[in-house]
Amino acid sequence: MADSTAERIRRLAKPMRVAPGEKVNLSSKQWDPGATAEFLQKGDADEALAEGVALMAEYQARLAAQDTWSVLVILQAMDAAGKDGTISHVMSGVNPQGVEVTSFKVPSALEQDHDYLWRAALRLPARGMIGIFNRSYYEELLVVRVHPEILAGERMPPASKGPDVWKRRFREINDWERYLTDNGTKIVKLFLHVSKDEQRKRFLDRIEEPESNWKFSAADARERKYWDDYQNAYADLLENTSTERAPWHVIPADHKWFMRVAASSVILDALMDINPQYPVPSAAAKTEMEQAKAELLAGG
Ligand code: ATP
Ligand code: MG
Repeated sequence: MADSTAERIRRLAKPMRVAPGEKVNLSSKQWDPGATAEFLQKGDADEALAEGVALMAEYQARLAAQDTWSVLVILQAMDAAGKDGTISHVMSGVNPQGVEVTSFKVPSALEQDHDYLWRAALRLPARGMIGIFNRSYYEELLVVRVHPEILAGERMPPASKGPDVWKRRFREINDWERYLTDNGTKIVKLFLHVSKDEQRKRFLDRIEEPESNWKFSAADARERKYWDDYQNAYADLLENTSTERAPWHVIPADHKWFMRVAASSVILDALMDINPQYPVPSAAAKTEMEQAKAELLAGG
């Protein structure tokens, strides 16, 4: 990879990272949903994304061959921020055998019969794989926090639903992510940060454009009433679960072209950290290959 590409990737990714323990005010200039980077113009975005897509394919091939690390990409966002489009654009060049996407919905009856991390554990990527969580166990700190009746309906012992439940979940998630990282899962967490006004425009577009009607949900539009509660829940989650090993990144999402290059860069940055390598054959394997080659060349 050209040095300039690696440098661009790191330069894009770095300011979006939430430092461990950092106070987060999502309405401050620092986390502006309309932000872009001065060194990347809209006209260059397609080329930058294409470069990112090609690199992603190369890293995925090496990750699979090395078969040591897995990568778990967690995507969280308000509705219409662009999770689906980001996944399809950023991962478009990757061998489909190397990626698994899981969309987490309202828990089923079976899922409710287990602790909240259970269904996520079932979908963790195996070594060599990239797993993408479209929503995740972080919903347990978002929708469940914004709507107390959901927590009330969870089938935990009453003592587990006390006022310390959020603090406890922060700890549980941090502990779990530490365990996963220590055992070879690299966790990349992306919050696609859209503004309330841009969300309104996108909902209106979904109503106006017949091909997008299917994406419109009146329930999503009603959920806007709780916008501030969600932003507060996100800020608290970012402050408490961005760690050295598994940091959160706040991706400005009002400009789709920028969001995609930015999300791609953060994932690539993590892959560059792993820097997976094709395994080098042992001396014995090399001898075997030489023998096989000789036999094949001899027409065997
Ligand atoms: P899209 O609308 O683009 O298809 P989506 O991720 O919004 O994608 P939906 O089926 O519309 O998918 O929504 C999933 C819903 O499930 C969201 O409202 C989310 O808050 C809810 N959800 C996810 N996890 C949980 C959870 N653990 N507890 C309660 N609700 C959850
Ligand atoms: Mg939805």
